[in-house]
Amino acid sequence: MKILSIEKRFCPFCMEEHDVKRVVIEEENDFKGEHIVYPAEYFYCENDDEYYAEDEMISRNSLSLRNVYRKKVGLLSTNQIMSIRSKYGISQSDLCIILGWGEKTITRYEGFQVQDAAHDSILRKIDNDPEWFLSLLEKAREKLQPASYNKYRETGMQLVEKCQSTYLRNAIFSKYAPFFGKIELSGNTPLSLEKVSDIIRYFSNSALVKYLYKVKLMKMLWYADALSYKRHGHAITGLVYCALPMGAVPVAHRLLISLDGINCEESEKDDGTIYCFRPTENKEYLNLSEQDIDVLDTVIEKFGFSTKNEIVDAMHKETAYTETAPRDIIQFKYTMELSLL
Ligand SMILES: [Zn+2]
Repeated sequence: MKILSIEKRFCPFCMEEHDVKRVVIEEENDFKGEHIVYPAEYFYCENDDEYYAEDEMISRNSLSLRNVYRKKVGLLSTNQIMSIRSKYGISQSDLCIILGWGEKTITRYEGFQVQDAAHDSILRKIDNDPEWFLSLLEKAREKLQPASYNKYRETGMQLVEKCQSTYLRNAIFSKYAPFFGKIELSGNTPLSLEKVSDIIRYFSNSALVKYLYKVKLMKMLWYADALSYKRHGHAITGLVYCALPMGAVPVAHRLLISLDGINCEESEKDDGTIYCFRPTENKEYLNLSEQDIDVLDTVIEKFGFSTKNEIVDAMHKETAYTETAPRDIIQFKYTMELSLL
């Protein structure tokens, strides 16, 4: 028995006012063929050694029984259902419209009625798949108030974006999984996508950097990490670079250019897609130290106005490149002989 509080109140056993404990006890009951042990709240009269509950407590205890049952058989709890709904900022009745359910279904599921397994899976899918939510919303558009529709759409789109960014980060980290524990390959630094994003923006926003297309950007990233390693014994980003025909390219380079906060413009040319990096509104670089910025400024000073071919030529002359077999990982130990100081 856990005591929640002690309050002076009228006791229906003694028929008088005295200090009554509000307590939580473990109660057992069978529900839908399952034996359930759940926490239940009661008033406790010490004089008569009796427990009693008010209507509101009885409801709460009954909900507690159902939620323990839900957990035991693997269904969403009432709170989880409410939190899915509040994530989308959608009312009980509008969610029913979108799902094509009876208008009180969600209200009942957030109360005493335990949802069936099929409806439970649908609610979980809504939770994990905002794109699906948006497609259902679109189909139900005519049945919703325009203001509500717009609000749900806005929230749904924000959730899609958030999901994509999580998905992207996970995809990048999974490509780096083989290198975890081999910190020398990433220049004695764990991978920081925040730093990668800040550096790309720092280069994109500099008035001293021209022709910032993908090949040049990848070389500038390597030069920044290599120079930091040469100066301070550690790279900035934790990226791992391979030796490709046009010089150093980080693992997962195709994914890195889609990171949050970067302004990468794609255009189609005869010889494939061109990626150009443009200035961004955000000009703060909270993840970079002064030491990092000094390194970046040296790289910009040297290569800011270089064309792609010029920076590729420079890379081809670096010991780190000439000592590495094609497509192998470029070791940071060679950066001691880097052309930049
Ligand atoms: Zn009493």
